[in-house]
Amino acid sequence: MTRQILPVPNPVTSYWLREPHAFADLQSTLCLPAHCDIAVIGAGLAGVLSAYHILKKTDRAEDSGTEAGTQEGGAGPRVVLIDARQLCSGATGRNGGHVKVQVNTLVNLPDSATDSRNKRSAFQDYVSRVMLELKHITEEEDLDCEFELRRSFDVFTSTADAESTYRKYEEARKNGELWTQNVSWIGADRAEQVTSIKGAKGAFSVPAASFWPYKFVTGLLERMVKRWGGEGGRLNVQMCTPVTSLNVSSSGAELLATHRGTITAAKVVLATNAYTAGLLPVFKGNIVPVRGMASHHRAGGAVHPHLTNTYNINFGPDKGVDYLNPRPDGGIVVGGGAWMFRQDERSWKNNFDDAHLFPPDVMGYWREYMQDRFLGWENSNSKNDSAWTGIMGRTNDGQPFVGRVPGREGVWALVGFNGGGMAIIALCARVVGRMIVEGKGFEDLWEEEGLLECFRCSEERLGSPQ
Ligand SMILES: Cc1cc2nc3c(=O)[nH]c(=O)nc-3n(C[C@H](O)[C@H](O)[C@H](O)COP(=O)(O)OP(=O)(O)OC[C@H]3O[C@@H](n4cnc5c(N)ncnc54)[C@H](O)[C@@H]3O)c2cc1C
Repeated sequence: MTRQILPVPNPVTSYWLREPHAFADLQSTLCLPAHCDIAVIGAGLAGVLSAYHILKKTDRAEDSGTEAGTQEGGAGPRVVLIDARQLCSGATGRNGGHVKVQVNTLVNLPDSATDSRNKRSAFQDYVSRVMLELKHITEEEDLDCEFELRRSFDVFTSTADAESTYRKYEEARKNGELWTQNVSWIGADRAEQVTSIKGAKGAFSVPAASFWPYKFVTGLLERMVKRWGGEGGRLNVQMCTPVTSLNVSSSGAELLATHRGTITAAKVVLATNAYTAGLLPVFKGNIVPVRGMASHHRAGGAVHPHLTNTYNINFGPDKGVDYLNPRPDGGIVVGGGAWMFRQDERSWKNNFDDAHLFPPDVMGYWREYMQDRFLGWENSNSKNDSAWTGIMGRTNDGQPFVGRVPGREGVWALVGFNGGGMAIIALCARVVGRMIVEGKGFEDLWEEEGLLECFRCSEERLGSPQ
């Protein structure tokens, strides 16, 4: 018998999660509400942002511009936010906090040159707008999450990779593709000096943002609970409560089964990312859980100059790409190292066990990481003080599934964000919020909201259930 895809208990703690938020185990009420209008399953970035937009859009105080209605919670739909584990303990609580799209991703998008809207420019533009949306919410809600708009280096350590990516970039630039306007090339003669990466053979400088995703999500939920979660309020939060099945009742309502009882909901938002096939079999084979790893590094003392850029370091086709997010306090979060475990497929593919690390020889990849790769860090005494695993939801075409689930009237999804949800989710959540509140479909909103059409949760993409 195959194991149901569900978040496992007791995940390893990531650096970001080391100080749990006061709401980590929040259960607004002792018993689960028997009914609600909208149940949001999953309390990572996708779930909390979706609930935020639904509540905000249906808040009378938002319309009148007064605070009074907010305190009473307004009279809109009742929302339950439910998660199997602690608040934000999935991929959002254990990623790189890195928001960008790599030049390599853009130049290798299929059919881009012949696409009338030019997929590359549309994709880069989309990610830029996600950064601005995250910035807007951070400022609007006064979230303490180290949000920063930055530049990032895409560095190549192999001459062949550097040259072939540069050629594709040049071709796109000469064709007038808009995305190239905000990207600049640093050639082999200066790449090491400019990026500080030992052996760099070329690099692009690209737009990026970084933040502390756990603090963003938990800070936002804190605001939401204050605004809509009081006694008799419209938001009920239920952490540490796995939904073990999702079925339709004879009256057409959605039934969420849990060990604490059943919730009947008129509408459900699936923000369950890697675990979605555990609740809806139509996602089996369409979203595959894959395990990755990341780490945190602390310098022994101050290293000057401070690393202001973020990084993707491309070590060549046999290896892969690492990503680095240098943080304001001088610490650095680094993820990747996939070639250390890639050959052992069972250790990462269809593997949703983030309660264990990879074997010590794999985790050893992080030892002396900064000293080995960065010029000027040899005597920094930098230490890898934390390493962890996390689960991504991989899709076959690399795109997420957003919108109403075909054949399931009461269920909307925003799931399958692969290794890049921080650069994708924020606008998807706003659109899903509008779909639910305004009763509109993907086809009504995607262009208006600047979503990419390839995100649509369509029958064609889902194919037949496996
Ligand atoms: C190691 C690592 C590094 C990464 N680095 C980056 C990066 O730097 N930049 C970037 O853009 N992306 C990165 N990603 C990817 C990014 O983290 C994800 O795309 C993103 O966090 C997905 O957010 P989410 O809210 O959809 O999913 P999650 O944060 O995983 O949230 C899903 C939630 O659903 C809950 N859930 C699932 N099933 C059930 C159920 N049956 N009942 C109740 N609850 C359920 C889970 O407990 C979980 O809390 C990384 C991922 C990993 C693992």
